[in-house]
Amino acid sequence: MKLDQVLEELRQSERFQACVTGWRHLPPRPARHVDFPPWLELRLAQVLRARGIERLYTHQGAALDAIHSGKSAVVVTPTASGKTMCYNLPVLDAILKDGNARALYLFPTKALSQDQMNELHGLITDLGADIKTYTYDGDTPTTARKAIRAAGHVVVTNPDMLHTGILPHHTRWVKLFENLRYVVIDEVHHYRGVFGSHVANVIRRLRRVCRFYGSDPQFICASATIANPLDLAERLVGGPLELVDDNGAPSGAKEFILYNPPVVNRELGIRRSSALEAQGLAADFLRNDIQTIVFARSRVTTELLLTYLREGLARHPGLAEKVHGYRGGYLPLQRRAIERGLRDGSVLGVVATSALELGIDIGRLDACVIVGYPGSVSSTWQQAGRVGRRSGTSVAILVGSSNPLDQYLMANPEYFFGQPPESGLVNPDNLLILLSHVKCAAFELPFEAGEKFGVESTDQILDFLAEQKLLRRVDGRYHWMAEDFPAEEISLRSVSAENFVIIDITGGQTRVIGEVDRVSAPTLIHEEAIYIHGGQQYHVDRLDYDEKKAYVRKVDVDYYTDANLAVRIQVLDVFKSRTDDAFPAGYGEVLVAAMATMFKKIKLFTHENIGSGRIHLPEEQMHTTAYWLNVPETVAAGLATDDLQGGLVGLANVLVNVAPLFLLCDPRDVQVVAEVKSPFTGLPTIYLYDRYPGGVGLAEKLYDINPLFLRTALDLITGCSCEGGCPACVGPVDEVGPRGKRAAVRLLREALRDRAAQG
Ligand SMILES: [Zn+2]
Repeated sequence: MKLDQVLEELRQSERFQACVTGWRHLPPRPARHVDFPPWLELRLAQVLRARGIERLYTHQGAALDAIHSGKSAVVVTPTASGKTMCYNLPVLDAILKDGNARALYLFPTKALSQDQMNELHGLITDLGADIKTYTYDGDTPTTARKAIRAAGHVVVTNPDMLHTGILPHHTRWVKLFENLRYVVIDEVHHYRGVFGSHVANVIRRLRRVCRFYGSDPQFICASATIANPLDLAERLVGGPLELVDDNGAPSGAKEFILYNPPVVNRELGIRRSSALEAQGLAADFLRNDIQTIVFARSRVTTELLLTYLREGLARHPGLAEKVHGYRGGYLPLQRRAIERGLRDGSVLGVVATSALELGIDIGRLDACVIVGYPGSVSSTWQQAGRVGRRSGTSVAILVGSSNPLDQYLMANPEYFFGQPPESGLVNPDNLLILLSHVKCAAFELPFEAGEKFGVESTDQILDFLAEQKLLRRVDGRYHWMAEDFPAEEISLRSVSAENFVIIDITGGQTRVIGEVDRVSAPTLIHEEAIYIHGGQQYHVDRLDYDEKKAYVRKVDVDYYTDANLAVRIQVLDVFKSRTDDAFPAGYGEVLVAAMATMFKKIKLFTHENIGSGRIHLPEEQMHTTAYWLNVPETVAAGLATDDLQGGLVGLANVLVNVAPLFLLCDPRDVQVVAEVKSPFTGLPTIYLYDRYPGGVGLAEKLYDINPLFLRTALDLITGCSCEGGCPACVGPVDEVGPRGKRAAVRLLREALRDRAAQG
């Protein structure tokens, strides 16, 4: 009731309404049910009834039908819609009917597999059946491993463990592979880019080992809402799936508000800080005793907001103490206490990083304030999915930051509320990734000449590996002959094995906290860089380039670093090209030669440039895929050289910032270069390329959506209120020049043959 009153006040508030760019009322949705299917084990139905579940939701019914008819399926429904039942029920049903049946569950993170294990255990305990489920990951004690291999009906693991701990040792897992009926892959949308391309190959290996043992498992996948869940899941599992996306779960009414902080300097396009605005909004809810979660993008913002909020609530006795922070780096005990407090209501507010986005049960809250666009529509909905009880109203407010993506969304709310536009992309046939897994597969079982492995023929790769003395060909079969164990060397998170190790030396201790691939090392971990890992900032004290080691120290600073790359691009092969368009576009293979030269220190929130430094590192070369756009001579001739340069840089900035609206990827995954006279075309050219050797499909997608991509860039620039350019659109005036914004708009209108609109 209280929330409705606060919402009414906001509706009446002129100041608030002036900042609202979109306000959607999402009506309550009643549940839609179907009966338990007649084939479902009576014992399972009884357990569900004992829990008060008399019928299934429609999507659960559809998933069960598809699985029962022998198909594989992908379930795409929102958070908290009972997705896990879509796989737990068929799996338990199969094991109850046949004690030999086995299932393998894959989750991308440990926290998630833990959560799912608890749920599965609960069902099995209620059943009173002898069904053994085990987690098999890096934490599993050696003593327990043997029992799991022999007796586990359901083995819960992650792709990394399947890759290094299970498949290479398949001879010890005969029982599992001979009887494997189901492979469950939850959170499919996580498997994209480099990671997804690797996982698709791990699944190819899994299928190959299963064939060897005479099994042919069905796949049951689940995904958050993205543009192409079916396509992504089919590429991951390498076969057809049935799409189940008709959500039958109920939900209460929700208000979703897009809020853009007021402009404080129109000329420079500067808005009031999103953190300050979010603090005000959250304080409003908390003062009214409304349970609220605030999502921040980094650990620093989390702490900052928590401090602001507590200060703001100091006048209200007892309130500040009921607001907590929650992020990576907190001790597990501390986290559990906060989670419990949220569930039982003793914690009123929490400021969290996306660490709370997934899996962890905190019950359902009433209000959610998201500070800055989390980077994708699907993760925004996942964060917003933390609020909303079965009945009654809930509210989610997305507060825009001054980033270009945020500003685009604020100006185009229909984009946010429409169909999810971001595609999850993988490229399992990336030659380097494929090569890695052919090695692993050859170690697991010899290859037959002419054997398929996703790709039509592996002969060339096999012959290459034979030349390298890694394989030996005998009677039309290729046998692994090297001493070492290939999977150990291959990380699923990077394309090649040439990684830099990040070593935390805070407080005199040394601890490896992560890796960065070779291509990214010069820009991410050069000396004096601020490296962010798990929401924590680290200062790079020293980079040992030859040893591939970066020594870092924990810090809390109010800036991040951005390195300048001097990049040369050479087109090696044209795969696709479009020459009839006003601006010819192409897609193909390129050589990228990049040298990091200097870095800027940029203040958080305001994006002010507060310092710089030099970087002394050698040039790095990489083959990858690129999308390019040429400016025809006739158009270039109509612009003064400075304007062309500024317009091109501005356009490049906008394109690279807009790309993540279509690609489910990290903004860093796509890089851009603008050349006023490209050695390849002789024309002004903008290249956008995949930051990974061999490419993961990003550039190709941009080529495929070329007109839409350019239209979106134009909307972003023309929708920005700045005069001559700002960080939220083409970039600041000192980068693009006084007429850069106008020139970028002109280029785009020419490219879209949109001259009528030109003034
Ligand atoms: Zn602007």
